[in-house]
Amino acid sequence: MQLLRPESLASATASLGNGSVPLAGGTDLVPLLRDRIVTAETLVELRDVLPRGVQGSRIGAGTTLAELEVDPQIPQALREACALAASPQLRSMGTIGGNLLQATRCWYWRLKYPCFLHGGSECHARTGAHREHAIFGNERCASAHPSDPAATLLALGATLRTDRRELPIADLYRLPTEYDRNVTALEPGELILELDVPEPEASTYLKAMDRTRFSFALVGVAAARFGGETRLALAGVAPIPWLLDSPDDLDRATPLPGTAYKVDLARPLIRRALEAVA
Ligand SMILES: Cc1cc2nc3c(=O)[nH]c(=O)nc-3n(C[C@H](O)[C@H](O)[C@H](O)COP(=O)(O)OP(=O)(O)OC[C@H]3O[C@@H](n4cnc5c(N)ncnc54)[C@H](O)[C@@H]3O)c2cc1C
Ligand code: SF4
Repeated sequence: MQLLRPESLASATASLGNGSVPLAGGTDLVPLLRDRIVTAETLVELRDVLPRGVQGSRIGAGTTLAELEVDPQIPQALREACALAASPQLRSMGTIGGNLLQATRCWYWRLKYPCFLHGGSECHARTGAHREHAIFGNERCASAHPSDPAATLLALGATLRTDRRELPIADLYRLPTEYDRNVTALEPGELILELDVPEPEASTYLKAMDRTRFSFALVGVAAARFGGETRLALAGVAPIPWLLDSPDDLDRATPLPGTAYKVDLARPLIRRALEAVA
């Protein structure tokens, strides 16, 4: 495997494709390469080419979660989501761009079971162990999206700028289908460069975890109030970050036997998040 360290965006994008994979902080990608879940002949390091830092409402995709959790320019919910993600060491390496594109933590997928998401026909979690899995959008794949910042950016209505286009974060994610098992709409070799994050009047992120530190969300709730409208989005409940039209959407959840508790967990978190931004 070779590692390329391009010094310009143009040479980074020219190096992508044909089996090469972009590398940011490497906190998700390197373990996947080590376990041969992802294979690559060439890694293209993005460190020197991605925008980094915060300028007004714009966040460079190369900004680390550690930098974001203390930045007073960004909405409170995003600071909280970054601060509650992973460990200090991981946050100081992991970038916001890489966080949005991290792979599922479903252990069947990580153990390379030939499941639906890997291109097979069966979701092993449905019949197997699935306590951490989904309560929405789980018909074909019941994985739970692991990113706290992604749910927050969805509630905030952020927009992404890639090297090819602008797209609302809601359009970045898609449920896997029979014909396309990807959970993002990024094209091969497309790079996230920047995020544009609207400033709400108030926002918050609350997270239920097995431990109070260094744990993925069982349920994460992001709430952002813009004038009289409050947007709610959840982490850890569907294969992608999940936008709610209202708290009543929980009545239409489709939990598996082992994930029904997540519906009960989400209700008080949503109530508290709404109270916090009211
Ligand atoms: C033990 C552990 C616990 C964790 N806990 C949490 C948690 O509680 N909450 C949470 O939200 N996250 C958690 N994470 C995830 C962590 O935050 C991510 O691994 C990290 O943010 C990924 O960023 P990175 O820069 O290291 O990405 P990388 O590992 O470098 O890349 C991840 C993926 O994104 C692609 N990529 C990276 N940057 C770009 C870009 N700009 N454009 C296009 N593609 C790109 C890579 O090719 C790769 O596919 C945890 C991770 C670990 C290992
Ligand atoms: S939840 Fe998704 S990733 Fe996990 S076994 Fe089922 S199809 Fe595979």
